[in-house]
Amino acid sequence: MTAVHEAAVPVAATTPADLSVWPASTTEPRPGDPAVGGVPLAEIADRFGTPVYVLDEGEVRERCRAYLRAFPEAEVLYAAKAFLCRSMIRWMDEEGLGLDVCSAGELELAVTAGFPPERIVLHGNAKSPHDLETALRLGVGRIVIDGPTEIAPLAAALGPDGRQRVLVRVVPGIGAGAHDKIRTGTEDQKFGLSLSDGHAQHVIARILDQPQLQLTGLHCHLGSQITSVKPYVTAVRRMVGLMARLRDQHGITLPELDLGGGHGIAYRPGEPALDPAVLARRVRAELGAACAAAELPVPRLIIEPGRAIAGPAGVAVYHVLSVKRTGARTFVAVDGGMSDNPRPALYGVRYAPRLVGRPATEPLTPVTVVGRHCEAGDVLAEAELPSDVRPGDLLAVPVAGAYHLSMASAYNLVGRPPVVAVHAGRARLLVRRECLADLSSRDVGV
Ligand SMILES: *Cc1c(COP(=O)(O)O)cnc(C)c1O
Repeated sequence: MTAVHEAAVPVAATTPADLSVWPASTTEPRPGDPAVGGVPLAEIADRFGTPVYVLDEGEVRERCRAYLRAFPEAEVLYAAKAFLCRSMIRWMDEEGLGLDVCSAGELELAVTAGFPPERIVLHGNAKSPHDLETALRLGVGRIVIDGPTEIAPLAAALGPDGRQRVLVRVVPGIGAGAHDKIRTGTEDQKFGLSLSDGHAQHVIARILDQPQLQLTGLHCHLGSQITSVKPYVTAVRRMVGLMARLRDQHGITLPELDLGGGHGIAYRPGEPALDPAVLARRVRAELGAACAAAELPVPRLIIEPGRAIAGPAGVAVYHVLSVKRTGARTFVAVDGGMSDNPRPALYGVRYAPRLVGRPATEPLTPVTVVGRHCEAGDVLAEAELPSDVRPGDLLAVPVAGAYHLSMASAYNLVGRPPVVAVHAGRARLLVRRECLADLSSRDVGV
């Protein structure tokens, strides 16, 4: 069949749905009624209401295991900012991952949920006194130093007998990532210390002057949603180059190299993703070669995937509230939007929502799926939905597990959706829906 013939025939909505970006457990026992983790999404919508976030526990755990299989020699830290709750913390602990946190809040939640503090790394370009005090009080494993002004306060807070392992965040000068707002490997953004202008070396020299600070290695994080291994391979070469210079200048051999996260995933069928196994192979080869050439021992690798662990395990489910045809466009408005998923508005991310809960029999038609918020930019997706889509229908958005709820807001006092875990045919509530009482309890004025 040629593309011309295909284009001439309206696409029937009854074509088997492309589930390639859905959790691996997804089945469709009855057409139009997909089940994730053995639980039909329509049943979850009935039982917990909408909007609702469904998280496939098996998919989260399998993604952790895939990283450990790909990087058996490395320490794998889950980047908590992608999505965090107590169950997620427990799953990471059980799977043997560490955690990467960037605030006292994430850190305290993890430790009070029972996560071992020594397996936690604290990041941040602007750590508050409270962040540092919490990190020292809870005994965080490592702190990543992001700038020269952090050194003296940290050493002072530790006192003369205190000890803290630290890494230094280096900017390797590599442009990678799906959007300017999530590129962090270049010189023109706020994170880290430049390798090329000598700032990294300068800060490292100052850390080495502080006996309380034990520098264990270098850290870099290139950005997010990177789908090629090449920037990581370049980063390895540059970081090993810096390690060799530090050995020559200071006589130190750093035992750790943290390459951050940013591993890209597919949001829509056909999009590329970064395969951890391929990444591991290429990074391992480059690290071995670069260290051999520099006559350095191979440092222990640390990696920090966030999105690649949580993203594909989540599905957001909404009810359609209104369908409006204006001129050439059809707007399908759902009962959530930019308050639970600000990513399309922030950086133009594109999703592939689909109808669930009833068989789709009409041909697909292009629609704009919008939220319920008071902004014209509250657009969730440009999509193709059956032409009879109507209020009361359910829409599901796959790949909703990372950077949705963790970036959610209380805009319009709609309240943030609950999170429901599914596994082996059972659904259970992990995080309940935010209600007006939650929001109004903070409002203590008259
Ligand atoms: C955000 C972040 C990560 C995780 O990024 P993903 O794109 O979710 O993999 C890892 N490390 C650091 C330092 C980060 O800021």
